Amino acid sequence: MRIKDALNEHQLVERIMPVLQKNLNENMINRVLYIPVGECRGVSRAGYWSPSQMRLFVNTSLHGEPWKNVFLHELAHCIATHKYALCGMRVKAHGYEWRVIMMHLGLRPERCTNAEESAQLHVNDKHHYTCQTCNYVIKKPRRNDRLLSDLVRHKGCRYKVGGGKLTYYYAP
Ligand SMILES: [Zn+2]
Ligand SMILES: [Zn+2]
Repeated sequence: MRIKDALNEHQLVERIMPVLQKNLNENMINRVLYIPVGECRGVSRAGYWSPSQMRLFVNTSLHGEPWKNVFLHELAHCIATHKYALCGMRVKAHGYEWRVIMMHLGLRPERCTNAEESAQLHVNDKHHYTCQTCNYVIKKPRRNDRLLSDLVRHKGCRYKVGGGKLTYYYAP
């Protein structure tokens, strides 16, 4: 999938084309529209923009609105790269220039992915390890019984009475 396909598929053409025109020249717009949209996996990142690969990534676990939000966040980085970095201007990743582009895109210029996105990202974390001392739950995408060994404790409770020993619970 290219950026132009993603815009079509998510009915973003009318909303995004004016933003591209506002920020980039025609050559740059054509280049941006053909940038590949890749998929990243796991729970660490909702998405990212790689200026060295000239490729944008969105996490495979995201769909619908959360997908769109992450895609547009990364698109704002991509636009900033073309508008500033490729012309030799150094700008901060989530600095003023990026925030202005986010507002052009009609989004709040928030640095972190919102709770909805991270909730979506963690739907596969079905293996829960509960602290016996404070009931804090550590969630993992895979079963990891090393966490049940006597050596591993909930960090916040390891020096308290009870010691933060973890118990396993499967939460499908
Ligand atoms: Zn970012
Ligand atoms: Zn604890």
